[in-house]
Amino acid sequence: MSASRSTGRVVALCGGVGGAKLAYGLQHILGSDLTLVVNTGDDFDHLGLRISPDIDTVLYTLSGLANRELGWGRQDESWNFMQALAALGGETWFQLGDRDLAIHVERTRRLQTGETLSAITASIAARLGIQARVLPMSDHPVRTVVATSEGVLPFQRYFVERRCAPVVNKISFDGAAKARACSQVLSALHDPDLRAIIICPSNPYLSVDPILSVPGMRLAIENAAVPVVAVSPIIGGKAVKGPTDKIMAELGVPATSRAIAEHYGELIHGLIVDHADEEDRKTTRCTVHAAASLMKTDEDRIRLAGVALDFAGNLATDIAVAARRRGR
Ligand code: GDP
Repeated sequence: MSASRSTGRVVALCGGVGGAKLAYGLQHILGSDLTLVVNTGDDFDHLGLRISPDIDTVLYTLSGLANRELGWGRQDESWNFMQALAALGGETWFQLGDRDLAIHVERTRRLQTGETLSAITASIAARLGIQARVLPMSDHPVRTVVATSEGVLPFQRYFVERRCAPVVNKISFDGAAKARACSQVLSALHDPDLRAIIICPSNPYLSVDPILSVPGMRLAIENAAVPVVAVSPIIGGKAVKGPTDKIMAELGVPATSRAIAEHYGELIHGLIVDHADEEDRKTTRCTVHAAASLMKTDEDRIRLAGVALDFAGNLATDIAVAARRRGR
């Protein structure tokens, strides 16, 4: 293990499927020294239940319960509830497996007793044997809304019901102005033992921007004065999964890793791109490190997490040297 991985804590910003893959690798290396700040802009109320899709994907992935065939939900799933609901003429556009239902029912019950989403998430994570700290970005509601060619759509209507088909004109985060970051998120970012912040290869527009829309979040990241490293979700001009590249095209942005770096701008010190995008190194403003960034296996996830931590460790040295030079 390299020196850069041996001490200190790490905060990672994370959406669902893409983010959770890297989070799995980071947890393997860091255990309880990892804090995950998870997007809740996708959360919604459905069939009387509060659904937090990204938190659930992270919880299932980190506990080894994720359904790898489907790419979402729980493994060993059955669908009796959905079939019974369909027979009654109920709403079936959002699939809820029988086992998966338990987390939504339990979360909803506890929210109704006045518990916070962060407390509920922490206790479910502990029950599932997860070592990393999993935190929602906020305990206040922030809801992603997509202005499209078919009108303004709540996130899940765009993403699941319309399968990202409508052309995106604008993405906004309802409630963000009034939201506050979870106090544990701010403490993790202020921790003197913090050594890096990783932005997982999540969709920048739909998964990371909602986190950054929470007032004070961006400033807390900047003030942390540690290397901030993002992993690009674009490989060879395409998203591995989901609509990231389609949305970039619709917003008039080229689907490149360079554009991902530009999107994060001054917030990041370094970007990890795939070997396929090594050319982007020449034109990208921040420091770029090329690696094999497609995560098919658990080993891939752990290897890429190690690359991200080592890269951040090296940047820390560069940042310290630059600061010393400026001070001279
Ligand atoms: P969602 O909330 O479930 O859509 O998941 P995220 O926002 O966390 O992740 C979606 C992004 O993950 C997409 O843009 C994918 O391109 C990216 N992604 C998925 N798997 C991989 C992978 O193995 N490597 C990289 N670099 N990106 C990935």
